[in-house]
Amino acid sequence: MTALASDAHRGRNRAGDRDTAVVLGLDVGGSSVKHLLARADSSMSEPPTPLARGRNATPISAPAEALAAIAETIRGDRALARLVLSIPGIVDEENGVVIRSANIPALDGSPLGSQLETALGVPVDVINDGHAAAVAEASWGAGAGIDDVFVLALGTGIAGAHVIDGRVVTGAHGSAGELGHITIDPLGRACSCGRRGCLETIIGAPALRDAWTEVGGRGGPEALFEAFAQGDGAATAIVRRASSALAEAILTLCAVVDPGGIVIGGGLAQAPHHLVTLAERYVRERATFHRVPPIVPATLGGWAGANGTVLTALRRQRVAG
Ligand SMILES: [Zn+2]
Repeated sequence: MTALASDAHRGRNRAGDRDTAVVLGLDVGGSSVKHLLARADSSMSEPPTPLARGRNATPISAPAEALAAIAETIRGDRALARLVLSIPGIVDEENGVVIRSANIPALDGSPLGSQLETALGVPVDVINDGHAAAVAEASWGAGAGIDDVFVLALGTGIAGAHVIDGRVVTGAHGSAGELGHITIDPLGRACSCGRRGCLETIIGAPALRDAWTEVGGRGGPEALFEAFAQGDGAATAIVRRASSALAEAILTLCAVVDPGGIVIGGGLAQAPHHLVTLAERYVRERATFHRVPPIVPATLGGWAGANGTVLTALRRQRVAG
């Protein structure tokens, strides 16, 4: 808490900050909470200069109380106008309820929004972390300037979010964008969703690790990409297959959604860009009627989610105001 406290303290000492209404965004992860504090009258056309920015350990045992304490510490004596939190898991954004969070099981079923509204006395919104990262990338990151962006996150799983005019299109039941479960090979490996051969079973980090181990490789995806870069035959076959699967999913996306831009981020896309580069080549080679938009790497990295919470807070504050 020392770093957190000093961060908030520094912000408070800036001239003129004290009387300014602020919004706070908390990106709650499995191992840490990132915070961004900004003036409530910040422009939404670019990321605001934060009044406070930092991270501290995730409180696992009593998350609502701990998150309220974190918010109180950061707000200090400033007038807090709104708090937005992003949570990894399934969230009922309308009612501020965490349905299920694999990373923070203590939050399962908790009405976090209303708990924090009671504790802090300000409006609180709870949103999905992937949605938060997607709106930030679409508005302030690689998708800035494009009205209709599909944001893909490649990691353990494959997450997707279609962002139009800065808002995630969640679908009638809140489950749109599950690109990781597009079927690539109906006879392929069993997927966590209960079906077979989904994109995730070929390109997710565990799938790449398994494929690499089966041919005698050591280490995870990074070692695989390193071997690919050095021309290893087995690694090349795995990376090509994964990129090909991603390309098929992107072509499906273009056929169904026709986005104005595709932003690709997440752990697998961040370090080596082999997968994305190769996939983009396949997409352009295989496209027929498809209108293939720019395919670009995400730019906000690990702070995309926190930026998304602040952007959401600013936007909802304007609507409410
Ligand atoms: Zn699946």
